[in-house]
Amino acid sequence: PRFKTTEEVLGLMKDRERVRNIGIIAHVDHGKTTTSDQLLAASGIISPKVAGEALALDYLSVEQQRGITVKAANVSLYHEFENKGYVINLIDTPGHVDFSGRVTRSLRVLDGSIVVVDSVEGVMTQTETVLRQSLEERVRPILFINKVDRLIKELKLGPQEMMQKLLDIIKEVNNLIDIYAEPEFKEKWMINPTAGNVVFGSAKDKWGFSLPIAQKKGINMKNVIDAYTAPDKSKLEELANQVPINEALLDTVIKFIPNPIEAQKYRIPKIWKGDLNNELAKAMLNSDPNGPIVMMITDMKVDPHAGLVATGRVFSGTLRSGEEVWLVNAKAPQKVLQVSIYMGQFRELADEIPAGNIAAALGLDKARAGETLIAPEYKALQGSFETLHYVSEPVVTVAIEPKNPKDLTKMIDALRKLSIEDPNLVVKINEETGEYLVSGMGFLHVEVSLQLLKDNYGVDVVTSPPIVVYRESIRAKSQVFEGKSPNKHNKFYISVEPLNDKTVDLIANGTIKEDMDSKEMAKILRDQAEWDYDEAKKIIAIDENVNVFVDMTSGIQHLREIIDTLLQGFRLAMKEGPLAHEPVRGLKVTLHDAVIHEDPAHRGPAQIFPAVRNAIFAGFLTAKPTLLEPIQKLDIRVPMDLVGNVTSVLTRKRGKILNMSQVGSAARIAAEIPVAESYEIASDLRGSTGGRAFWGTEFSRWAPVPDSLLVDVIMKIRERKGLPKELPKPEDFLS
Ligand code: GDP
Repeated sequence: PRFKTTEEVLGLMKDRERVRNIGIIAHVDHGKTTTSDQLLAASGIISPKVAGEALALDYLSVEQQRGITVKAANVSLYHEFENKGYVINLIDTPGHVDFSGRVTRSLRVLDGSIVVVDSVEGVMTQTETVLRQSLEERVRPILFINKVDRLIKELKLGPQEMMQKLLDIIKEVNNLIDIYAEPEFKEKWMINPTAGNVVFGSAKDKWGFSLPIAQKKGINMKNVIDAYTAPDKSKLEELANQVPINEALLDTVIKFIPNPIEAQKYRIPKIWKGDLNNELAKAMLNSDPNGPIVMMITDMKVDPHAGLVATGRVFSGTLRSGEEVWLVNAKAPQKVLQVSIYMGQFRELADEIPAGNIAAALGLDKARAGETLIAPEYKALQGSFETLHYVSEPVVTVAIEPKNPKDLTKMIDALRKLSIEDPNLVVKINEETGEYLVSGMGFLHVEVSLQLLKDNYGVDVVTSPPIVVYRESIRAKSQVFEGKSPNKHNKFYISVEPLNDKTVDLIANGTIKEDMDSKEMAKILRDQAEWDYDEAKKIIAIDENVNVFVDMTSGIQHLREIIDTLLQGFRLAMKEGPLAHEPVRGLKVTLHDAVIHEDPAHRGPAQIFPAVRNAIFAGFLTAKPTLLEPIQKLDIRVPMDLVGNVTSVLTRKRGKILNMSQVGSAARIAAEIPVAESYEIASDLRGSTGGRAFWGTEFSRWAPVPDSLLVDVIMKIRERKGLPKELPKPEDFLS
């Protein structure tokens, strides 16, 4: 590590031509962690002050144990290129696909990405997903083909064959760039070995080079093969000294990734949806340190000493402690209490951090990852920022309790902090049983989170077996049903029907949001989702599980006074559907008429909630109700002669093969299987192919449970939840 003072680093940060903001993205296991570790070990900036105490790299033990990166903080590196010093901010994007929500969030603050690809496995699902997201955000990729040693040690390839294999990977990556990059960047961003924006190497063995570097240093593939086939290790060490991986990667980053001033010119239009001639927009386009403050938070961490630490990128203005800012997502003002920069992986106090850089701020406890801070006087323009939208759709849940009952308070506190750090983790309490329910995006996500609970907060828990979460939905339109309040004085006339797929997409991806202007919403729904404009204008609520409430009434007495209670009743009903108390998804609820008692004493929540619910549920149960189950995408590579073994595993697990193609001597199989069947997929695939299959998984979509299984699945959930052992009927909700 280089020893630098905070002043020296801040000096470089002010000269923004000396700054690069990058991330490493990769398919799981392709070597992202190893690569970042190498970069940090060789180039982390350590201030003289902390050097003594901080030599040991302080990684979460869960990462070491499982090889999965779950933290997404920043690391600042120092590197000299052509006799000039540079600060490279490396924003650590989580690698596992169950956390893909976090990857997108981090991408917004990057100007470039190092795409790591395993030379044997080649381009895999997540490589494609993250590369696509990167290109869509106008983040420029450079390529690192890692684990080249495997081509020599495992595949025993000669120099010629090696080169061919590497060129095949480059071709595959360029094919993706061709598909996903916008026209103006396509040519410029293509990977070109001669130009030098691809590095070949081994992060584990610490060497790497681009073709120009190899040429300069007089190295070729034959030398590499010799280093590996030599009887002792000294040749390999020599190679690592001659062409160190950190130098190859960081030289390439500095040469090919734009500095923030250049990058913000074309990246801001992706982040800012308003007028580009506006003062705030111009300040961002120019990365103006004297403009109004705009900062995007990518990561919230709970520091046991400092409290909540918000890390993000300043796009314009200069972040100072004591500054009042407006939080666009939270819609609230807040004061920045303390500002710091990263030195290596440690935070050091700083007075001010100018546009173009990564900063950490304390005091912003209303912020969550994805938040945008702006100068309060520009609050009126907040709608022009594309706010990040979370649709947490947890698909796996476990019930937990502390091993030691005395740890209950500690566990609750730790769960709260974990869910602040990871917005995709949902924690709920089951009021009836007092159980704590932790839900995540897959089996692995939940497992890793519980490990964090233990490692970082010292809470040991007992867990139930993981449960797959379903959604309840319908496949037909109902008639209008009357829902009565228990005192019979209030009546709602409601019908339900399924939202079309396009509407569900628009809501799930955040294009349509409850708080947007109703005319704007209606226009989008009319143009893109076949809605009637006047009906769409009457949408008055959209809940977190993609259900919509439309008020088609007019002139109903007292409706205005109870509307909030009514909508609260709608939201509650959507949280636990009638079939099995699972959340409802994709429902359009329409209010046609209502009778409301004139005396407020007779129309409180205890009357209104059941009235709304009864009407919705009665309609629901007549409208071809079903359960939706989460489906996972699988991308499998396997030698041609083992394809049959893989397909028979998939068939046994209700899997479907979507596509099959040949890549070299391997087959690439794209398939889908229900999450409910995926618990043991890893050992089954491994077992049936003698460990010769590689694969990646990703959440794909919600799909109806096959009719032949439906009743059985519903009854099992009802039994687990202690609900009556018969299917609910519409009459149960009519009186
Ligand atoms: P990540 O999941 O992308 O963060 O991948 P890791 O960095 O954890 O690496 C996954 C596995 O690949 C680990 O067992 C590493 O030791 C191994 N690995 C990383 N780089 C190399 C390499 O250059 N060559 C070989 N043979 N293995 C490597």
